[in-house]
Formats: sequence, C-alpha cells, structure tokens
Amino acid sequence: MDLETTKNFLSVAGQAIGLIKQGKELLPQGPHRTGAEKKIAEAEQALALAEVRAAQSLGYELCKCTWPPQICLRIDGRDNMCPKCGYNAFHGTKLGDDAAF
Ligand SMILES: [Zn+2]
Repeated sequence: MDLETTKNFLSVAGQAIGLIKQGKELLPQGPHRTGAEKKIAEAEQALALAEVRAAQSLGYELCKCTWPPQICLRIDGRDNMCPKCGYNAFHGTKLGDDAAF
C-alpha cells in the first residue's frame, strides 16, 4: 500500500469509528452500550497501532511513553520529538534539555 492509500485508509477508518461512536450514543445505558463502548475502544486502539506501524514503516521514530507508542514528529523546528512527553528520539533527551540541541 502506498503512502497516499495508507493515509486515506487510516483517515476513512478514523471517520468510520467516529460515526460508530455517534451511533453508540443512541443506545440506552446497559450491557449493549457497554459492549459497544468496549468494541469502539478496541477499534480505536487497533487504528492507533495501524498508524504507528505506518509511521514506523516510513522511518518515523517512536516513543514508548504510552501504549500505543507515540510517533515522534517535527515540533518547533526540532525533528524526532515525542508530542506527548517531549522526548527527542534522535538525541535521547527531553524537551527543555537544550544542551543536546
Ligand atoms: Zn513520549
């Protein structure tokens, strides 16, 4: 699957999960709704993992501060930064430790 196809697939999958979440709101409180919430959470985690795998296959670094891992991005002009904790995957430092930059 090429990059554009992967991006489109992940985007559509995310939109589908969003629609399912809206539909879940129509269910009355009870075991059916609880079951739907559990399945939606599983689908969201599977989608997040698919995004992580796609990013990893494209050469992005990962930060293990959360599960699923965070995808390290270019933030404030700095490459390979974790958007969650500020870890820099290239330098092995946290945001704020400017000595490494
Ligand atoms: Zn992190």
